[in-house]
Amino acid sequence: MSLSNPLQITLQPSGHQFETDAQTTLLQAALDQGFMLPYGCRNGACGSCKGKVLSGEVDYGAARDGALSAAERAQGMALFCCAKALTDVVIECREVGAARDIPIRTMPCRVESMQIVGQDDVMLLKLKLPANERLQFLPGQYIDILLKDGKRRSFSLASPPHQEGFIDLHIRRVPDGHFTGHVFDGMKVRDILRFEGPLGSFFLRDKPESNAVDGTERPALLVAGGTGMAPMASIIQHAIQVGSTRRMALYFGARTRADLYLHQQILDWQKQLPSLEYVPVLSDPAPQDDWTGRTGLVHHVAMQDIGNLSGWQAYVCGAPAMVDAAKKDFTQAANLPIEHFYADSFTYSAT
Ligand SMILES: Cc1cc2nc3c(=O)[nH]c(=O)nc-3n(C[C@H](O)[C@H](O)[C@H](O)COP(=O)(O)OP(=O)(O)OC[C@H]3O[C@@H](n4cnc5c(N)ncnc54)[C@H](O)[C@@H]3O)c2cc1C
Repeated sequence: MSLSNPLQITLQPSGHQFETDAQTTLLQAALDQGFMLPYGCRNGACGSCKGKVLSGEVDYGAARDGALSAAERAQGMALFCCAKALTDVVIECREVGAARDIPIRTMPCRVESMQIVGQDDVMLLKLKLPANERLQFLPGQYIDILLKDGKRRSFSLASPPHQEGFIDLHIRRVPDGHFTGHVFDGMKVRDILRFEGPLGSFFLRDKPESNAVDGTERPALLVAGGTGMAPMASIIQHAIQVGSTRRMALYFGARTRADLYLHQQILDWQKQLPSLEYVPVLSDPAPQDDWTGRTGLVHHVAMQDIGNLSGWQAYVCGAPAMVDAAKKDFTQAANLPIEHFYADSFTYSAT
């Protein structure tokens, strides 16, 4: 962000810092920078974003009395969804670090754009949220699309939490699939969907206290099979946004070159995130691919490269067989502590 008169905001106890201007609320500025403060209504009514101003001056904005009493104001409390900085400010606030801190909501959304990629079997779907709504989630979590017959279908959020107004999904077509078939054959731009979320405990642990080894942050091994790349896309874009320097190694596995549907995008992300290593792996390259890169099972290639995973943290996403094999091999053959293995297995709904 390039600001003419930047004001510095410091979050305590984390010490996170960023710049803002006098027109942007403290909550908005923090979210735009990828820092996850709790919030609810975002218009001064619910009090979910309440915290203390430790130093500096703020304009309290339109905080309602019911959500912020005069006594609380006198103690230095503010609603960060309304408050704007007038000077450099230090605020005390809880940063969302666990899925339980985030309310699960049901929301409508509208299909904004549809792009078919891969072997014509992956749909990049952009969904527009209702005006002034934002979905709070941790990078890696998923939503359930609610179908008219009461059934639900799970899809990982591929966009990062700081993306305003839209969420992205990567949907693989399942042969004879009820919902994914509709996505490819019936869905149109402007169609309305309903979803519930955010859901799941698969998300990037990026608080040093949750993953430190010998005083330094554990590097993160990201292993994606097919559209298992979707939550990794969210994690990587979040890391870029917060200026992460944590070492990340992404292994993206697919059958053929055409199935590496996000390859070019990942190379572009790498330019913005020097700490990201990227290894594409094909299990069954086509003769016309002229593939000179790595081949085999994606998690085996990661093990060949890294060897001992005892100091790592692993995030694995994709088909259930791949996730199961990675869990077994990483923890038994490569010494990954089981508590540092995180996965979302792309199972499907029971009929
Ligand atoms: C937490 C979570 C996150 C997920 N995230 C994603 C994502 O980001 N992108 C994505 O593409 N998928 C994702 N999935 C998988 C996705 O939910 C299913 O592919 C989807 O529910 C299939 O719906 P459908 O109505 O098209 O298929 P259904 O009509 O339910 O199934 C049709 C037939 O296909 C088989 N089938 C269904 N799904 C699969 C599958 N995934 N693999 C193999 N066979 C299947 C079933 O046996 C069934 O007989 C995720 C799953 C979970 C649990």
